[in-house]
Amino acid sequence: MFQMPLPPAYRQMSEEETDRRIGEAKAALGSDLVILGHHYQRDEIIKFADFRGDSFKLSQLAAGRKDARYIVFCGVHFMAESADILSADCQKVILPNMSAGCSMADMANIHQVRACWDYLAGEIGPGIVPITYMNSTANLKDFCGRNGGAVCTSSNAPSILKWAFAQGDRVLFFPDQHLGRNTGYKMGIPLEEMVVWDPHYPDGGASPESLRQARILLWKGHCSVHQRFAVEQIEKARAERPGVHILVHPECSFDVVRASDFDGSTEYIIKKIEEAPAGSSWGVGTEINLVNRLAKEYTDKEVSCLDPTICPCSTMYRIHPSYLLWALEKLRKGEVVNQVQVPADIAAGALIALNRMLAIH
Ligand code: SF4
Repeated sequence: MFQMPLPPAYRQMSEEETDRRIGEAKAALGSDLVILGHHYQRDEIIKFADFRGDSFKLSQLAAGRKDARYIVFCGVHFMAESADILSADCQKVILPNMSAGCSMADMANIHQVRACWDYLAGEIGPGIVPITYMNSTANLKDFCGRNGGAVCTSSNAPSILKWAFAQGDRVLFFPDQHLGRNTGYKMGIPLEEMVVWDPHYPDGGASPESLRQARILLWKGHCSVHQRFAVEQIEKARAERPGVHILVHPECSFDVVRASDFDGSTEYIIKKIEEAPAGSSWGVGTEINLVNRLAKEYTDKEVSCLDPTICPCSTMYRIHPSYLLWALEKLRKGEVVNQVQVPADIAAGALIALNRMLAIH
């Protein structure tokens, strides 16, 4: 993924001019354009989004908006890939800054997953169902589609795991160990029946016996944003704010999720705050842009982030308004920049896995 440097005129432009020109470009492109904004994007981007959502909701929107010629995805690369796979052939998906990746998605690549799969086939045999979290590259989704697996999101992970256990005896879950562990545990699978696969070792760093006993094989990957939350932060919030409700994302560690009052996807977190009674107090364990926005939108409730130091997703943050303007002004001139296009052979298997994700709730 290569991002060409922005022309100096865009880098030097004032905020006011950038905003004005984004508005003008958007108006000129009209219904040819739809801008999707992930909840973790900064406010300066979100204000231009036609729709905002988590990766699951935005992928549904991308699949449903067949009328727009251009889908400008203000999120990270794997989301734009999924939007490309789910959108019509005539639509073009654009990521304003190609360097907006995801450190979690980078923790599993196709070579590592194939090596793991072959090793497990030799040690355990058949009956393993591969499940990849939405936060992964398209070729891992393709791998799952071609090997009887599916994609899951943090919204439908329990249903997808239930479905997977109806297809086979074991699940290989990648790349986020925490979502896999938290979801498996909630389904009643004890921790002893979940083993971590470390891709840096040919045998996953696990004994053949432990692999054979495991029902869920958890890839050793994590989200650098959500892994920062700690039980001590929850204890501190409870000590300082009597009656505070702790609400975290399932990408947080097992201990943090167990210590919380509620856990769920980004959309769940938003709904929970939205429906909370006035005067209630919330300590939230997720990305700071979203938490700050919730605090601003629901002033009748006390909403703050559990992490006292700022924890934005640094790659989401790379979608700066200057990049959005640059991409839109190019479109206005009929020039498509930063198109994310998944090769047809990879898109075919990935579509199978993504359609399972969309069908299973
Ligand atoms: S918040 Fe975590 S999982 Fe989401 S894009 Fe950022 S690094 Fe990736």
